[in-house]
Amino acid sequence: MFRVVSVYTFKATKTKLLLIVKYFSMKRMYENNDIVVFWNSDKCFHSTKCIQASPKTFDVTRKPWIQLNNVPNPEVWQAVEGCPSGALGILYRHGIDVKFESEQCRSAAYDGDKLIGECDYQETDSGWCIYHTEVDPEYGGKGIAKRLVYSVLEAADRKGIEVTATCSYAIKVMQ
Ligand code: SF4
Repeated sequence: MFRVVSVYTFKATKTKLLLIVKYFSMKRMYENNDIVVFWNSDKCFHSTKCIQASPKTFDVTRKPWIQLNNVPNPEVWQAVEGCPSGALGILYRHGIDVKFESEQCRSAAYDGDKLIGECDYQETDSGWCIYHTEVDPEYGGKGIAKRLVYSVLEAADRKGIEVTATCSYAIKVMQ
């Protein structure tokens, strides 16, 4: 579920409206050495097609319900592509690690030791607000920004914290 909860007009940019969105759904990210699978509970209508396609990967009686190391990656890929709702997504990891770094209020992407992207949030009275997401252009097109936003959303969800966003990219991912 996604809805606009507030619209603010800033005096400095009178014509510019900033939409603040609030996030109520669950998004999860699962990884192995080679691939990343995303799951968006908002879009899942429990068709069970993924479970039928790869029961060792998708099993709702187990936690986590998605486990990626039980079958070859092509089977996972095929099952994800068979999801009729778009609740599942899949990408290659490209050897990039995404870490949640609570002390710095961000998730960060690393190529080895090199910081190549981050998703930053502020702690507010009502939760966390994502205000910035950026990836080194050299690493563009690999889905790293999506992984960064999911990392923050997942961490917030596990702590029971609500997330809002002013970052336009994060808003798009949260929809
Ligand atoms: S195939 Fe897609 S919609 Fe169906 S249960 Fe799996 S994730 Fe949900």
